Amino acid sequence: MTFQSPSSDPAYLDYNATAPARPEALKAAVEAMSAVGNASSTHRSGRDAADRVDLARRQVAELLNCSHGEIVFTSGATEANNLALRAAFEIGGRLVTSTVEHPAVLETAKAITFGSPGSLMLLRVDEDGLVDLDALRASLTTGEVAVVSLMAANNETGVITELEPIVEASHRAGALVHTDATQLIGRLPIDLAETDVDLLSLSAHKFGGPQGVGALFVRRGIALPYRPLLFGGGQERGWRAGTHNVAGIAGAGAAAEAARRALATEIPRIEQLRDALEESLVGQVGDCRINGALSMRLPGVTSITFHGAPADAVLAAMPDVAASEGSACSSGAPSPSHVLLAMGRSREEADSTLRFSLGYATTTLDIERAAASAARAVRQVRAALTAPM
Ligand code: PMP
Repeated sequence: MTFQSPSSDPAYLDYNATAPARPEALKAAVEAMSAVGNASSTHRSGRDAADRVDLARRQVAELLNCSHGEIVFTSGATEANNLALRAAFEIGGRLVTSTVEHPAVLETAKAITFGSPGSLMLLRVDEDGLVDLDALRASLTTGEVAVVSLMAANNETGVITELEPIVEASHRAGALVHTDATQLIGRLPIDLAETDVDLLSLSAHKFGGPQGVGALFVRRGIALPYRPLLFGGGQERGWRAGTHNVAGIAGAGAAAEAARRALATEIPRIEQLRDALEESLVGQVGDCRINGALSMRLPGVTSITFHGAPADAVLAAMPDVAASEGSACSSGAPSPSHVLLAMGRSREEADSTLRFSLGYATTTLDIERAAASAARAVRQVRAALTAPM
């Protein structure tokens, strides 16, 4: 079997939407799908399938430095977030999260607190996208909080949340901590032996695994009411019923292992490419602003506002580059980015913002092409909008 090189035409710079599959993930998924076996069956074929799931569980656990018994496989981070928040909110108390979370957290939080006035608190961020820690501390002293849920890295800006002070303050107040780490896992190291979060969501397709597979880390020993979303055959220790997606899970495990091995070399390489892209664009087009705390970002993400150049028009003028306007998850709905608005940007600025996200297979050529193409597109759009009628 041959695998197509992910380095690409168009230049693919949308890793935060989804990353190209790593060859190791493709191989593991195809091998698993080529073999018959339900991981719950007790015969040999079933045990082989269960072994693949078990291996993947260990591979994902190794990436996080936790125990394999703390991993619950799900259909992705959306499900992991739903599962975590619903179970934690069941404890009783308030749910604290932030205005810049992914809809998989924000909409879940709104849905489960609906009808319980005062039970949802949304923390604001500053103009750099950083959560207000004082507001968090204040929220923790004013009332009983069941769970604090803050994303490890933002999908639109790449801004990273420093989890340790959040964990410390929350635990002191008796609250559990959940983090949606979908954009961080496989891009930066995390050590769950050191970072004492209780619940963590991840998604395989952001680090080169298949779409439709993710996991929830549930720290051993935490008092979490048993509240599955799906009832049925009791798979995943009752947390997630349904026949295991063996091929998807095997691919997720292989991608986790490949990402873990490559992390130390990928991080500086990707960061250099991102910095080169920013430098080139700022130098070529001017009048633009890079969004998010510059020193607290994922290595492969840049969110740039090109003043006076609506992002939809710019993207249409650069078909040889796959980048994103706002976030892919909200595409289809032409509303401005809630993340940029929460950071104090105007609607016009939010609508003139592009996100480029790089990853393990991004090449220098991808960056050169993207920089040239985006600069040309921005100039074209600005010229068209300022031309006399
Ligand atoms: N959280 C964040 C921060 C994300 O970026 C995404 C995917 N865009 C999700 C959750 C949802 O993940 P999934 O596609 O696995 O449901």
